[in-house]
Amino acid sequence: MNQQPIRILLLYTGGTIGMVKDVANDTLIPFDFQYLLDKIPEIGQLDCEIDTDSLDRPIDSSDIKPEHWLRLAQRIEKDYTYYNGFVILHGSDTMAYTASALSFLLKNLSKPVILTGSQLPIGVARSDARENLLTTLEIAMARRQDGLAMVPEVCVYFEYDLFRGNRVHKISTEDFEAFESLNYPKLAGAGVNIKFNQGFIHHPSKEALELGNSISDEVAILTVFPGITPAYVEAVLNTAGMKALLIRSFGAGNIPTDAWLIEALQACFDRGIFIVDVSQCVGGGVALGKYAASKALKEMGVISAVDMTFEAALTKLMYLLPFGMGYAEFKQQYESDLRGELSES
Ligand code: ASP
Repeated sequence: MNQQPIRILLLYTGGTIGMVKDVANDTLIPFDFQYLLDKIPEIGQLDCEIDTDSLDRPIDSSDIKPEHWLRLAQRIEKDYTYYNGFVILHGSDTMAYTASALSFLLKNLSKPVILTGSQLPIGVARSDARENLLTTLEIAMARRQDGLAMVPEVCVYFEYDLFRGNRVHKISTEDFEAFESLNYPKLAGAGVNIKFNQGFIHHPSKEALELGNSISDEVAILTVFPGITPAYVEAVLNTAGMKALLIRSFGAGNIPTDAWLIEALQACFDRGIFIVDVSQCVGGGVALGKYAASKALKEMGVISAVDMTFEAALTKLMYLLPFGMGYAEFKQQYESDLRGELSES
């Protein structure tokens, strides 16, 4: 039995959960951490020690940048041995990006890192903030019989469901069930009891935590759409400093078969740009060559994002680029399962 008190570090970045109304402008703006804690006194009843820390200035998650991901990862690493788990309060808009990025940056994780937030501010009577935060803290505290963390992963908890962080996607601005994970089962469901889906949860790593220390922003996104023009494609492909291009394709990895588009992509590929194909669909994934409309990409040697979410596909690209790998090694790494973000066949 673990006799030590359980210690949780609660990190506040901002988001709706702690926002208040700016009456003069009729908008929601982030507020400070103490306000939030004062609104949920039940936190004091939990059988654990909770320390708190926050970004210098709480922000709407639309303002989250890769440097915030690095700062969060470094903050976790700094006191990694002291705390049993980490909870991050974060706006829901870009929560899936931050969760995915952290899953890559924190290699060999053996403790929970759980992001949560809410659809309504904590000061609003029907707010989902209280349940989301209290249950997230309980999950971060949960131990297995051998004393190890129950969920040693980067996760997202929202409205009674716990998801693997690099598998979620925000699907609603309206429903309390704001997230969905179509390609991987949820890790736990909270009712009267919290039921953990043990067979789908990572085992804690025995290796030491390894922190990624760099994230690249030398990426560009090409979303294909009916009516896409050469001028639009040229503008994206000529993005200054671009090292990798993420194509958001139709269905199972398909793009329009127009010769001008294939030639433009081939020229881009020949310039040494790493090209990745991720589907615009949120369920299923890319199967290059399944349809004639993806054959040219397959023949070119384009990299497949398999069944990754867009958020995982993008942040994995940003995480892997700084390692400076050659194309073959990069493709092999990118198409491999690094943190449970894709289903290997
Ligand atoms: N705009 C808010 C944010 O992402 C929405 C939310 O928190 O749910 O910061």
